[in-house]
Amino acid sequence: MSAADAPDAMAGRPGCEAPVREVRARAYRIPTDRPEADGTFSWSATTLVIVEAEAAGKTGLGYTYSDASIVPLIEKHLADAAKRYDAFDPPAAWRAMTALVRNLGRDGLAATAISAVDIALWDLKAKLLEVPLALLLGRLRDAVPVYGSGGFTTYDDDELRGQLSHWVEVDGCAFVKMKVGSDPDRDPHRVAVAKKAIGERMLFVDANGAWTVSQALDYAERFADEADVRWLEEPVSSDDLAGLSRVRERAPARMEIAAGEYGWNADSFRRMVAAGAVDVLQADVTRCGGYTGFLQAAALCEAHHLPLSGHCAPAAHLPVACAATRLRHLEWFHDHVRIEHMLFDGAPTPRDGVIVPNLSRPGHGLIFKHADAEEFRV
Ligand SMILES: [Mg+2]
Repeated sequence: MSAADAPDAMAGRPGCEAPVREVRARAYRIPTDRPEADGTFSWSATTLVIVEAEAAGKTGLGYTYSDASIVPLIEKHLADAAKRYDAFDPPAAWRAMTALVRNLGRDGLAATAISAVDIALWDLKAKLLEVPLALLLGRLRDAVPVYGSGGFTTYDDDELRGQLSHWVEVDGCAFVKMKVGSDPDRDPHRVAVAKKAIGERMLFVDANGAWTVSQALDYAERFADEADVRWLEEPVSSDDLAGLSRVRERAPARMEIAAGEYGWNADSFRRMVAAGAVDVLQADVTRCGGYTGFLQAAALCEAHHLPLSGHCAPAAHLPVACAATRLRHLEWFHDHVRIEHMLFDGAPTPRDGVIVPNLSRPGHGLIFKHADAEEFRV
């Protein structure tokens, strides 16, 4: 290993001007507004973990949707790794954090923790430079399309209709996504209700891995014929790359298979792409290693001529979504949009189906409302 490849190559390097001084984390558990479920999971609350990183009198903010158990991992371990580096070098901290969790497993909780710290460090760097993060990363688009996402399987027809039509009529979304798979016999009816509510706009369907390959092929044909569905997400488990690939090969030609929300690192995405499992790769900055990890997924998509779609947490994705070459859209996920608007000043609002970064503030432009969040503190 050359010196340049060593994890510590950057530590203490002359020229560091803003060493990271402190990294704090806090968890908040926010109840959903209604019971929610998808094809394989149900929930009544969402846990938000925020990270604040300090250097040279500035504070960077990061967050992830994860579990309160990552707070001590961040404060007792990842903080030490981040504090070995300068705030101008987030990739160095990212690599040190990744190396640190080797024996714990890089996926899952550890990946969400690293993601939140990485986002905070990039926000911190932009604040130190006093530039918006979208400009620091460099834009190739100044507005990012969003698709409304929710349509939970717990909703009755009126709730489903109301939510989806709001995204189309008020937010201007060209695409909306609903959940299926909890009660397969009821899904054709629900899909018909949703399609009727959104008219000519495109309906996406997410099974969250609920189906077998043969069920998936059956529903793919049916939903394509009956509701012109052209996006089928996780028809089978994302752990079953061969199964996803079989669905992709045999689904109607105009239907795209999407997955990637459990891509914790570049290796996860590489395996998914190498298996021919997806037409569109999804990646989530709050899971895949923050902005540093998301840019790696973006590079993989560029090399494979694959579209990229950001999963959930739209406010966090916005700056890097402006920079990712093959990005198609971001997921305007009901739970996270609600939380971002409740607890983050500066959270974006769609106009005509797109969101735009706030270029009047340094960093990603989000300010956490600590006082408002206190009632949800874990
Ligand atoms: Mg999904």
